[in-house]
Amino acid sequence: MPVPGVPILEGLYPSTLDLYPFEAKEFNRIHPFYENLKQKRFTTTRCKKCGSAPFPPRVVCPKCNSEDLEWVDLPTEGKVLDITEEVAGVPLGFESPLIHARIDLGEGRKLISRVINCKEGQLKEGDTVRLAVFEIPPMIVEKKGGVMEEVERTFFAFEPIK
Ligand SMILES: [Zn+2]
Repeated sequence: MPVPGVPILEGLYPSTLDLYPFEAKEFNRIHPFYENLKQKRFTTTRCKKCGSAPFPPRVVCPKCNSEDLEWVDLPTEGKVLDITEEVAGVPLGFESPLIHARIDLGEGRKLISRVINCKEGQLKEGDTVRLAVFEIPPMIVEKKGGVMEEVERTFFAFEPIK
């Protein structure tokens, strides 16, 4: 099945080259993360038993194995700790430069994310970045009765605050 919506991939490659998650609830037990993302909320799961709230969200608490989890909001701004910029040889479907940063969201929470809307050499350690939500190509889901349906998807990165 082709990857729809990405012209360079249209009809040429199988969906195994689609690097984004299958977000539909039929395939993904953390699909509320993507539903929240569509509302520009950055969320994760918190264990109701022990309070552990790792990112990315989980379906089972990695500390105490409880499945009794709740969704909580995370900060949508953070400080850049360090940066890597891929200028040559970026993966198919991505534009150069492909920038990733380790971001400190506070309270000891750090994550690695792509940083968009940013030119090569522009991002510096200590800069403030904020959540940026964008649409990605829809995925095709087979519903009951063999009906194929396009399901919208969103994903996130961070972007510099100008
Ligand atoms: Zn727990």
